[in-house]
Amino acid sequence: MHLPTLIAITLILNALLGLLMVVIYDLSKRKPCFLHWALSCLVFSLGIALASARTSIELPVVTYGLANLMLLAAPVLAILGILDFIGAELSPRVTRKTLLTAAVLAVAVLAASYSNKAFFNAVTAMLMAGCFATGALWIRQLSLRNTAPRLLLLSLYIAHAVVLLVLAGLLLGSTAAPQGWIYELVLSSHVLLTTGTSMLFPLLVYVATEQRLKRLANQDELTQLFNRRAFFNISDDLFDESVRAVSDFSVLMIDLDHFKQVNDQWGHAIGDHCLQQTAQTLQAQLREQDILARLGGEEFAVTLPGIDADEARDIAQRLCRCLAQKPVMVDGQAIQITVSVGGVQRKKEHANVQDMLLQADHALYSAKSNGRNKVIFHTPAQSSSPGQGAPA
Ligand code: GH3
Ligand code: MG
Ligand code: MG
Repeated sequence: MHLPTLIAITLILNALLGLLMVVIYDLSKRKPCFLHWALSCLVFSLGIALASARTSIELPVVTYGLANLMLLAAPVLAILGILDFIGAELSPRVTRKTLLTAAVLAVAVLAASYSNKAFFNAVTAMLMAGCFATGALWIRQLSLRNTAPRLLLLSLYIAHAVVLLVLAGLLLGSTAAPQGWIYELVLSSHVLLTTGTSMLFPLLVYVATEQRLKRLANQDELTQLFNRRAFFNISDDLFDESVRAVSDFSVLMIDLDHFKQVNDQWGHAIGDHCLQQTAQTLQAQLREQDILARLGGEEFAVTLPGIDADEARDIAQRLCRCLAQKPVMVDGQAIQITVSVGGVQRKKEHANVQDMLLQADHALYSAKSNGRNKVIFHTPAQSSSPGQGAPA
């Protein structure tokens, strides 16, 4: 591509991206990552503008010194944005201090190499390669596994680091003036990769926000388990799958015994803590493919794909036993938590999980009226004669 055109497009595109980030920063209730990314784009644009004036202006302090500093500042600012985005997952204060030290060292190295322009450009390229390699390491830490923007960004950062290292090598090996084809290549690679990278940042935040909202919509805030809505969404799919595969499928309803007394005696906050501990104990006893949810209050439900009534009864009794044997400890005092469980295995009469839960709820009611801390399974005969309780 015609280099001046490429430079002009880059300049305009990065300036526009920078302005777009400023607007998103304002709209996103001032998320600092956008401000850093906006500055990164704008500083990069300015750096490119100054560097491209090398052939027309004889002012190396500006067209080399300042230009290279800005080109180097751009990936540093982008990294600061990534750190803001990652947030508390890292220790921002330590990383910021490290970055500041690295920046001071980088400026010192640049100053030392300034007298030889080819060498100066090569050092700048190496430092930038270091920035992109560091950025790639942080991008790897993003929790957005296997999402396209994360993978693309990681690839671009690695590609950018490699290209810059190769170019630094070429610059070091060249005896000619730096404004030759090597310079054009440096600029073209900057241009394409940096612009692509900047475009991915808002996409990354969009995916992260969407995942967070999805998690919030499906997660119970107190216990971090699935909530009622997610339970029915997922369990109905598993139910349909078991109908198609003609496989076993069971559901449990779990309700804490006399939980009102726990609240009355210990207070609501400790009651909440008991619910969280109970959720953890239940989750630890289940397989990955089982769906455990808090339906509301002190009621939980479990979907057990591939499990028949006998196995489900054993599992439910194990859950009861585990909870009964593991009181919640608060300030050295033990709070005894027990649960009653009603269960049901999928039969032809069930049209969906809701139908099954209704019968599991009847069985749970029987477990309550038969003394609590019990498992009772729904059987067709049970509706008329409740109470085949199996003490846990
Ligand atoms: P039973 O054995 O018959 O189930 O008795 P219970 O006391 O557990 O049942 P009841 O339905 O009378 O009371 C349920 C209690 O659960 C009342 C309510 O204060 C408590 N509860 C519901 N949701 C929460 C919550 O989110 N946090 C806390 N701490 N308590 C809750
Ligand atoms: Mg209860
Ligand atoms: Mg209840």
